[in-house]
Amino acid sequence: MSKVKAYGAQTAASALSAMEIERRPLNPDDVQIEILYCGVCHSDLHTARNEWKNTVYPSVPGHEIVGRITAVGDKVKKFKVGDLAGVGCMVDSCGHCPSCDDGEEQYCESGFTGTYNGPVFGGENTFGGYSQSIVVKESFVLQITHAADALAAVAPLLCAGITTYSPLKHWGVGPGKKVGIVGLGGLGHMAVKIAHAMGAHVVLFTTSAGKVADAKRLGADEVCISTDEKQMAQYANQLDFILNTVAAPHKLDPYLQLLKKDATMTLVGAPAEPHPSPEVFNLIFKRRQLAGSLIGGIAETQEMLDFCAKHGLVSDIEMIPMAYINDAYERMLKSDVKYRFVIDMKSLA
Ligand code: NAP
Ligand code: ZN
Repeated sequence: MSKVKAYGAQTAASALSAMEIERRPLNPDDVQIEILYCGVCHSDLHTARNEWKNTVYPSVPGHEIVGRITAVGDKVKKFKVGDLAGVGCMVDSCGHCPSCDDGEEQYCESGFTGTYNGPVFGGENTFGGYSQSIVVKESFVLQITHAADALAAVAPLLCAGITTYSPLKHWGVGPGKKVGIVGLGGLGHMAVKIAHAMGAHVVLFTTSAGKVADAKRLGADEVCISTDEKQMAQYANQLDFILNTVAAPHKLDPYLQLLKKDATMTLVGAPAEPHPSPEVFNLIFKRRQLAGSLIGGIAETQEMLDFCAKHGLVSDIEMIPMAYINDAYERMLKSDVKYRFVIDMKSLA
């Protein structure tokens, strides 16, 4: 075991603070990564504050990890010391259920092992990326093909990137499709960039009038202020697909009404409290569908990273020192992030 510096929450009510955690000795198929940067996902906040009622304390969040390999086990093939590497939301899964066989470890029937907060369905706690280093099985580690100087802005791709890429691809987003993205936060801004790069016509729905110019710069063809009923009415029955990234409960009906016949709205936002139930007639009359989607598999995460490298896509970030994390969480709750906080892990040394 090696002791490393970390930052985390001792209870749901306590601010995050410095602590020490232990990392396991390397197994033959493990790599050790010195963490250089870690993105700040809204799921980190939900977990640190036990909003999903499943947090094991102490809790060290962080699942948008990039860094450099500092040691490899005897059987490691993909990586060598000195390589750049990434770790997202998962560090293990059963490896033999139908979902794992399909390369969709996020839907592992035994429950995948989260990078933090342990296996979703019980087991030992795991500690995430708000720390100096991590030890991970190489099959759950991603190769980074972006230029090394873009590394900090690559970190958010490990969750925000894959969580939006996977449903956009699954629901056939591409040229000739009019796609709505709801919410311009960490996930939403990556969804806008990726849907644009996939060739779709992108409409961004936001509650923040101040984000209109940014949305267009990021790749939105049109921007709609979602609190303005007149603007919303212009899109009735127009959209082929909607990806909803909002982190708080809200009425889904105003968005369902924008879908064409047979079209789908997929929820990736995971608020602590349920959304008000949608009006069934909004589904029945146009055979519309309401769906959900969870991150993406490891192979698809690599595909997303390579897609983003090819299209020159990274996240728009605000770099912060580790000690700023509690302020960062408060700003995230006010939708005041442009558009992802990334922690410079040197600040933890
Ligand atoms: P974020 O950066 O805080 O962005 C959320 C955005 O939602 C805000 O910027 C805001 O956009 C909008 N919003 C917030 N409160 C709202 C409200 N009351 N009504 C309407 N819009 C509101 O969060 P994030 O990191 O992108 O994460 C978004 C959600 O996805 C979180 O719940 C997170 O846990 C979840 N998540 C799910 C998965 C998955 O696998 N499904 C993976 C990662 C994260 P505007 O200012 O543009 O309105
Ligand atoms: Zn996340």
